[in-house]
Amino acid sequence: MKFRSLLVAVLTMSLSSALQAQEFSEQQLAQVKQVREAASQSNLSWQLLTSLTTEVGPRLPGTENDKKAVAWAKKHLEQLGFDKVWVEEATFPEWRRYHESAKILLPSEQPLHLTALGNSISTPTEGLSAEVVLFETLDELIAAPAGSLNGKIAFINYRMNRDIDGNGYGPAVRARNSGAVEAAKKGAIAYMMRSVSTSHHRFAHTGGSHYKTGVTKIPATAVANPDADQLARLINAGHDVKVSLNIQTEDLGQGTSYNVIGEFTGTEFPAQYVLIGGHLDSWDLGTGALDDGAGVALTMAAAKHIADVKRPKRSIRVVLFAAEELGLWGAKAYFKKHKADLDNIVAAAESDFGADVVYAFESNVNAASLPVVREIAAQLAPLGVKYIGKNSAHGGPDLIPLKNSTSAPIFALHQDGTDYFDYHHTADDTLDKVDPAKLKQNTAAYAVFALMAADAKTKMAGK
Ligand SMILES: [Zn+2]
Repeated sequence: MKFRSLLVAVLTMSLSSALQAQEFSEQQLAQVKQVREAASQSNLSWQLLTSLTTEVGPRLPGTENDKKAVAWAKKHLEQLGFDKVWVEEATFPEWRRYHESAKILLPSEQPLHLTALGNSISTPTEGLSAEVVLFETLDELIAAPAGSLNGKIAFINYRMNRDIDGNGYGPAVRARNSGAVEAAKKGAIAYMMRSVSTSHHRFAHTGGSHYKTGVTKIPATAVANPDADQLARLINAGHDVKVSLNIQTEDLGQGTSYNVIGEFTGTEFPAQYVLIGGHLDSWDLGTGALDDGAGVALTMAAAKHIADVKRPKRSIRVVLFAAEELGLWGAKAYFKKHKADLDNIVAAAESDFGADVVYAFESNVNAASLPVVREIAAQLAPLGVKYIGKNSAHGGPDLIPLKNSTSAPIFALHQDGTDYFDYHHTADDTLDKVDPAKLKQNTAAYAVFALMAADAKTKMAGK
């Protein structure tokens, strides 16, 4: 590099660091520190999570508990002193689980632990029994000859892998989303899959599943992993394996629930806001502590910790989405309703990956926003959060409709998901699986992020 271009480079660097320094004053950075320390020590998110999962419990959309959760959220946002609290309607296909039981009949009778997938139809009242056909993957099932599963139960034994960022989930979930449709196309009368799970416990993992118009609906289930191993061992040893199952569920047509929203109003640009939140609903088997009571509690508490210190330039909006588990219905309703002013969102992040430590921070913003991002990253570093500079964050599931409709500034505060899929969507998703110390760290990370995004000089925007 020649001296002159080196000089230009040095000048550009010092100019950009001068600009960067202007994003936040010394006083603002002192306030960030104050919020980070208060949130790191406070029990507020733990108290909220304890209350939601204990006093309300499971929150399947449309149930009495779901209504209680909406009332709970509204009441607590008001008690925390949010400047505005309101609800917005969301509709969804309502579904209930009433009964599920199963047995291996042949070659040797034994219990089989399984659960209906969300949206599954019932078996006949007396149940059904049939021979089980094993596939290792969904693609193997798709490749099976037409009619080859007539009168049989299709079983996919795909194993998801364990990793910190949960990258095994997407490939495994394919079999949950469309396995029953593909099995029915080949003539199967019921569908079983290995749980989308990394665990060794004997709980089955539920989750959303879908039917397709024109394809016969068949009961769709997930088997606990040790039971999936048992079935596979029997079949691979050459036995004809026969199973009976009885699933009783109900499709209740269109249901209604509510996104619950709380906002602390910004002092300079009140219409612009940082969106943080989680989803208020949960599956019915556990108490939805990791998924997603933690996200609800920690984002509510993060906003409160900010407001205890100051009202930033822009508003902080906590959105607690409805009916996520049945297909992102609350998120779809929210981003449709606010379609005309999505440009007002200066940063969006959803916490919906449990409550293990936030280990990394990642943005998805335009170049002009990056100096703010780097300053936020510097203030997250004391919490042990590293900065991922890829600038291609996906955010949480409820931000998918936002990403699909506009180029919004999206952020990920990556939680360590190594153990998340041990408990996800099971009876075992309960409060004791959340570590209060880690929940504090999550709350502090969200508080630092939301405060700085709302208080920066530059209004951040998407790519
Ligand atoms: Zn979730």
